[in-house]
Amino acid sequence: MSELTREQAQKRLEELRRLIEYHNYLYYVLDQPEISDAEYDALMRELLQLEEQFPDLRTPDSPSMRVGAPPLEAFATHTHRQPMLSLGNAFGAEELREFDQRIKRFLGMPLDQRIEYVAELKIDGLAISLTYIDGVFVTGATRGDGLQGEDVTQNLRTIHAIPLRLRQPVSAPSSLFDEPAVPIPSFVEVRGEVYLTHDEFRRINEEREQTGEPTFANPRNAAAGSVRQLDPRITARRRLSLFAYGIGAVEGVSFDTHWQILQTLKAWGFPVNPHARICSGIEEVIAFCEQWTARRSELNYDVDGVVVKVNSLLMQQDLGYVQRSPRWAVAYKFPAQQARTRILEVRWQVGRTGALTPVAIMEPVEVGGVTVSRATLHNEDEIARKGVMIGDVVMIQRAGDVIPEVVSVVEEERDGDEQPIVRPQTCPECGAPVEKPEGEAVARCVNLACPAQIVERIRHFTSRNAMNIEGFGDKWVQRLFEEGIIRDPADLYYLKKEDLLPLERMGEKLAENLLNSVERSKQVPLSRFIYALGIRQVGERAAQLLAEYLGSLDALVNATEEQLLQIPEIGPATAREIVEFFRREENRRVIQKMLDAGVTPVAERQKRSDAFAGLTFVFTGALQHFTREEAEALVRELGGKASGSVSRQTSYVVVGESPGSKYQKALQLGVPVLTEEEFLKMVKGAQSS
Ligand code: NAD
Repeated sequence: MSELTREQAQKRLEELRRLIEYHNYLYYVLDQPEISDAEYDALMRELLQLEEQFPDLRTPDSPSMRVGAPPLEAFATHTHRQPMLSLGNAFGAEELREFDQRIKRFLGMPLDQRIEYVAELKIDGLAISLTYIDGVFVTGATRGDGLQGEDVTQNLRTIHAIPLRLRQPVSAPSSLFDEPAVPIPSFVEVRGEVYLTHDEFRRINEEREQTGEPTFANPRNAAAGSVRQLDPRITARRRLSLFAYGIGAVEGVSFDTHWQILQTLKAWGFPVNPHARICSGIEEVIAFCEQWTARRSELNYDVDGVVVKVNSLLMQQDLGYVQRSPRWAVAYKFPAQQARTRILEVRWQVGRTGALTPVAIMEPVEVGGVTVSRATLHNEDEIARKGVMIGDVVMIQRAGDVIPEVVSVVEEERDGDEQPIVRPQTCPECGAPVEKPEGEAVARCVNLACPAQIVERIRHFTSRNAMNIEGFGDKWVQRLFEEGIIRDPADLYYLKKEDLLPLERMGEKLAENLLNSVERSKQVPLSRFIYALGIRQVGERAAQLLAEYLGSLDALVNATEEQLLQIPEIGPATAREIVEFFRREENRRVIQKMLDAGVTPVAERQKRSDAFAGLTFVFTGALQHFTREEAEALVRELGGKASGSVSRQTSYVVVGESPGSKYQKALQLGVPVLTEEEFLKMVKGAQSS
């Protein structure tokens, strides 16, 4: 790179700025990055290096001078009292040592003196700022461009890990505490990262797959997309988590060290990542980084590095800031879990709903400690967007323990022999026609009796969140089906030991265990039974609502579309699928066969009474006693309806703290308004009646 002439550098800089701006937009605004973080980091690094080499070519609008992206207009804008900055990056131990040396030179310290650092895992989620006034949560915002973010208070309120009120630390004799108790500040901005656990990420994607929505590429995008949502009810359904890691502006309290801040955040009731450590000197930091590079896959959430911060706040103050990041902190980035390999062929896997998913079969390659030879290509649109062909050399990556995916094609490696990936016209498993409805990303095998679909349906039936029949896993379902021992999920309940024992690798003990778990699954909550049936469009949430409202399997089997549409959140497409499912003779037969074998779905949370029958409630503003979701569930349990918008049909609008436009609308339309206390009284009255 050093050979670039000034003119060439200028051209490349322009190109890099354009590229980075483009990827910033996809990443920060749309939550839909096209390239991996490692590729993005490489572009940014090249830009920084060139700008350093040719300082006069630096422009004030360069992405190297700015953080994130401006807030979207769809949300109200929130101005951070103290800006939310980015972090400088360090790749490898040598760059951490340079960081340490830079600090010492800046502070005029002897180079062999040790600085105390705090090393924390860098959570790969979405940065947010939570403002508390006199201990009460008032506003939550995204980072945006660092100065101004999006006001996403309503969405953040649905996250259980965010305290609506700071806990008052118990004051005890100071000998019991390492740090003296800290009072509640009159004003504080708490900074943290909202993220999704791998389990929750998988659950959301499974549900989306089922309802035909595009799946999220990784937990970070899913978390960002869930927080930057216009409908808080959707955010509430995604179980988001939080780690707090710092504070912005604060009044009425002061601190000496960053470590003290972390302990205080914990005392105030925030989840703080348990793996943070105080390190004496940069070599201890390096050991910590190396340890977590190896151990990151043990975590149930994605981390993309380690954030290293100078512990003393006095030192932090002296060090100050450069451009868009503090001089006293750096982000050590883990080496990317990426690798290059060649695509040998593409197989089309048939899922439970008949959906065909392209899977790349590749030359085996090691990524992040495991050998992989398959990676998902998601769907045809993704193949087209990335321009992948059979025979291509591609970059693949593993994000956390999520299945590997093809990130990009290494175009320089093409020799002209690559073949386009073409979706088969007939199902690779059963030969039936494959159809791709207009506007949908996936193509499906139309044959309901397709063996691949049946196996997947039985697998779904036994899965943990459905009937939870342990021990069957992927393998045994396939084997039992191939041997002709089971043909539908009901057959599981007629299995005998004699059926199982002749199978290869099956022992007496294993057979008993399998039969026991089948037996145990017979008593099942109705909602899980409904989910297990695998009706299209009916994920866990819909199954729960159906169980709650209808109260019995009979009621569901015989429900009309009109009746189903009365249930909140059940739309016309779902209602149609449900009625269609039960209209099929075959489905009714299989269900009857299960009931005959003793399967007993039990309605778990029946409506408690009909006290609220015919009443529709709308909630606005922040509630003190429960989340919006909980309040709505209460209304439903009492036979009422909860709605998201106010109309003349609304019976009551329940108003919490700082209510929004729904309150105005209620006043305009003359809809009766209740305070939270009044609502609680009504509920209590109804429950005791
Ligand atoms: P950054 O991600 O390198 O570092 C700052 C962020 O770290 C903070 O805003 C905070 O969200 C997070 N963080 C997590 N744990 C933390 C902790 N314990 N303490 C402090 N901060 C913590 O910088 P950035 O400006 O947010 O984003 C740049 C990064 O985003 C790039 O390095 C790249 O990986 C990614 N990116 C990717 C694309 C793409 O197209 N793939 C585009 C833009 C940005």
